[in-house]
Amino acid sequence: MESNLQPITPTGRRSAALALVTLAVVASVVVALIKIGGSGTELTAFAHRPEGVMSTQCSLTAVARADQREHARKALSEAEAALRDIEGRMSAYIARTELANFNAAKAGVKCPLSPLTMEVLRTSREVHLASGGAFDITVFPLVKLWKQAGKDNRLPVAQEVVDARNASTWDQIELLDSAAVKRTDTACVDLGGIAKGFAADRAAAVMMALGMRGGVVDIGGNIRVFGVAPGGSPWPVDIQDPFYEDKIIATLSLSDAAVCTSAHYNRFSMINGKAYSHIIDPNTGWPTGAVASVTVVAPTAMLADAWSTALSVLGPPGLDRIGGKTGVEAMLITGTAGRWSVQMTPGFEKLLSVPPHPPAAERRATSQPRAGRTR
Ligand code: AMP
Ligand code: MG
Repeated sequence: MESNLQPITPTGRRSAALALVTLAVVASVVVALIKIGGSGTELTAFAHRPEGVMSTQCSLTAVARADQREHARKALSEAEAALRDIEGRMSAYIARTELANFNAAKAGVKCPLSPLTMEVLRTSREVHLASGGAFDITVFPLVKLWKQAGKDNRLPVAQEVVDARNASTWDQIELLDSAAVKRTDTACVDLGGIAKGFAADRAAAVMMALGMRGGVVDIGGNIRVFGVAPGGSPWPVDIQDPFYEDKIIATLSLSDAAVCTSAHYNRFSMINGKAYSHIIDPNTGWPTGAVASVTVVAPTAMLADAWSTALSVLGPPGLDRIGGKTGVEAMLITGTAGRWSVQMTPGFEKLLSVPPHPPAAERRATSQPRAGRTR
């Protein structure tokens, strides 16, 4: 922590952006130090980059007066602890977390769960229903099947996909007030599509409670911003080009909001030379391939995280499902490098300070398309 805490140097916007693009693979937040007061009272953005949180890159930023360095250090440290706390409860891959215990439990056993885990499970079920089943944390056996298929470099046979799908569905899980019960031994859940967003919300809440004037939590592209950026302006949030690693495709301007991007380029399994997304279509049991990337803005990172995963499955028709929901806005990019198109809700368009470039500009680009993209 000590060695990582650093005021962000007053570089220009572009270089700050590039520094953080490398850090946050999916999207980045641009931060700059701007003095708005006298000595010691200027607002400063302090950055901290914890290692090994939720198996992804993580960056925390707290805005405080320059003379509140120790206070900012405490806020960043407690925010990091909040992230690790969520991982320690909700990872399906770490032994004896609340979630791992639930997944390992036999049918009929009442598994006590903390209010935090219950909140994420309830929201998961709500988004499952609202997305027509596209967001489905019970696809865990399919997630494992496709991960193994990548390791073995072998496509699963149809029966394996059917068996994995049938092994775990929402029908096989009952949520009680502060516990959950499985109706089958095989039912299990994976919160990989929502827990990072929830963790970002918790970490931001910690920094707010400790009086930070503004802040950013970025866990692998699941971003929550609050309060002011240095200088008092909204936070500019860059959206990475899904086809070119070193390019920004658009920029949002956000105050108190969350933005999450789901994209195939970041995590996929290679099978027989073809990239298969880490996001599974619960209907087919196969990895999705409809979109290159989905970016969602929502009041909470938990909702933005869940809906970005859901819309990766649904594709452009899914935009109709969020139209009526307050505060949930989205942009989908489909196609291939140089031949892509973009669709977004009217509310998303209003939040853009730099809109996406037209494909014609892409054709003139000299960068090499990234390796391993799905299409
Ligand atoms: P994200 O990167 O937020 O889109 O989440 C993807 C992760 O969520 C995957 O790595 C799986 O752990 C899990 N997942 C895959 N497919 C789904 C799905 N259809 N609904 C919910 N979670 C999923
Ligand atoms: Mg997600």
